Amino acid sequence: MLNKEEKLKGSGGLIKSPSGSLCPYYYMGGELHPLKYGSYFNNKDKLFAVIKAEEKYILKSAGKNNRRIWIDLYETTLVNGIVMLVLATIFAGIVLGLLLGFVGQFFFLVGIFPALVGIAGGYVLAQAIKKFKMPNKAVAILMGILMGVMIYGSYTYFDYLQFQNQLYDAMVTFGDPTLYIFKDMDKATLTNFLLQETTGSTGLIGYWKSTVNAGISIISMGGMGSNFPFNPLWSTLYLISEFLLIAGFAIKGAWERVNRPFCSGCEAWYDEGKYLASFEMQDEDKVINAIERDRFDDLKNLMRAELSKPPCLVLKVHLCLNCHNENPLLELSRLTVGDKGIPKYKRCLRGLITSSQLSELEDKLRS
Ligand SMILES: [Zn+2]
Repeated sequence: MLNKEEKLKGSGGLIKSPSGSLCPYYYMGGELHPLKYGSYFNNKDKLFAVIKAEEKYILKSAGKNNRRIWIDLYETTLVNGIVMLVLATIFAGIVLGLLLGFVGQFFFLVGIFPALVGIAGGYVLAQAIKKFKMPNKAVAILMGILMGVMIYGSYTYFDYLQFQNQLYDAMVTFGDPTLYIFKDMDKATLTNFLLQETTGSTGLIGYWKSTVNAGISIISMGGMGSNFPFNPLWSTLYLISEFLLIAGFAIKGAWERVNRPFCSGCEAWYDEGKYLASFEMQDEDKVINAIERDRFDDLKNLMRAELSKPPCLVLKVHLCLNCHNENPLLELSRLTVGDKGIPKYKRCLRGLITSSQLSELEDKLRS
């Protein structure tokens, strides 16, 4: 029996080009040759191979009738994933930093706001790492730091601009003579001049130093708390801890994503996982032992009747979204309930098995 493609060739003399378009394809009074370069995601080798093949094919078969070529690149990434990831991080970092600066003018929750933007930055990073397929631990750390620097930098920059305005307004209000001496200076130049005088540096660094020297005051919401400024050392530590909070949460978000299973063969993420069985916490060693030695009978005996009710060990299988059954990934995690009732998974074992091992295991557990 012929497949569909062969039938087409046989009956109408229709031929397909290397990228899979019908040639010639008559369209609006001319010949159309679509170059189907879509759905190669970031598989450069495959994409370039088909481009080369199309090139040869086109040179060999000259069009007769007003041939037009169009290119379909849907779902193909031409730009390097890491470049896109860096751009996304810079953009999101600036937006989040400005947001923090903007909200912070009105009220600021110490520790909480920096943590929240850090978590948001980590979420954006996780999404970008997923989209641009970068399951790499070094990338997670570097991008987390970059995210922290961008958020913290643009947040400090926002404050610095505010500081310029406040300084200028104060000088106008108090009729500061400096204003009349340097009357053609704009706000930024004037601020930099004064920062240079008082701290020895200009720009963001000068602003940072002057904030530290002035001492940061923390005013409690209830109004009862202390309102005396930190000394310069504590102010410095406070500003550094803000940065560490932001960067720490950003790295955490990225880290969780890069640790998800990824099929390097076809550059695709594994699925969310299918539940196989749950076990008692205290049987961890026995369960790991049974999995490592393919003793599925032992696993069956250890298996709990109750489904995944924490605390317990959960065995899941993940399949690559692209090649499905090639190399299923077994994952054993400790499932507990966190402080706020949120279930928490902590991985204790992960390993690839073959698809026949998986069906054997599934049959045994179901029996
Ligand atoms: Zn795969």
